[in-house]
Amino acid sequence: MGKANKNPKGTSGWAFMRRALLFVILTLLTQIGGAAFLAGIGLSYIAKITRRWARLAVFICLYAAATFAAHAVAPMFGRVPLSCFSMDGPLRVLSPLYCALNRNYVTGDVLRVADALSRHMAAQFPGTVTVALDANFPFLDGFPLLPHLSHDDGRKLDIAFYYQGPDGEPVNGQTRSPIGYFAFEQPVAGAPLPCAGRDDLLTFRWNFDVLQPLFPDWRLDQARSGAAVRWLATEGRKMGVEKIFIEPHLAQRLAVENGSVRFQGCRAARHDDHIHFQVVE
Ligand SMILES: [Zn+2]
Repeated sequence: MGKANKNPKGTSGWAFMRRALLFVILTLLTQIGGAAFLAGIGLSYIAKITRRWARLAVFICLYAAATFAAHAVAPMFGRVPLSCFSMDGPLRVLSPLYCALNRNYVTGDVLRVADALSRHMAAQFPGTVTVALDANFPFLDGFPLLPHLSHDDGRKLDIAFYYQGPDGEPVNGQTRSPIGYFAFEQPVAGAPLPCAGRDDLLTFRWNFDVLQPLFPDWRLDQARSGAAVRWLATEGRKMGVEKIFIEPHLAQRLAVENGSVRFQGCRAARHDDHIHFQVVE
């Protein structure tokens, strides 16, 4: 008698652990994915669906339904989705993946600021597309959108830098990194480096040195990126923007040092790959 078949229906401790881990990962990554996963297990049990591919299909259908439902329900709780379907406006979400993972929700105030910023940028630099990155999940204040600990209440939004291609031509609607993050602008000699010499173990300040050579050699469009930060710190401030995070070395390089332009601290993620802004409560 072998031990392997003791529990052929997969209800062993390992199966439970695997499901618990998937629930946690899906919840952390998408907020509502964990609940859809549990509902899928329940539905498959009731309907006696045992094949793995059929269970996966049940989960995908439930997750898609929950994602569409969140679009309709989240506004009742104060958050609206940035659209992944408007492909011709001046404000775009970098990838449909952000919407598929429910990472595209903001308060109405943030949406108004992002809209106005993108229209300003398109007016000042014709053809410019402002690219939105991680926003917030649809529900629950205090539920962070990892790895952004502060993106937990709808009031935060990350905007991609604006880039120039190899011949200095403006790049629009794309970022150096396929996900919009981790393609860092390296500080120039003599720039302020408040985290130099620190070696924190508990930190979201990852350097990803190994990834840097993989990204295209586009240059930061200093004119457009600086204009966006300046607009957020002036016109945006009138609309409720209270803080903008970029690294101090970039604030100096872009000449955007201002009371609203802050440093996020050494344990938070680097902010020389994107611009973060948040509005008052
Ligand atoms: Zn942010």
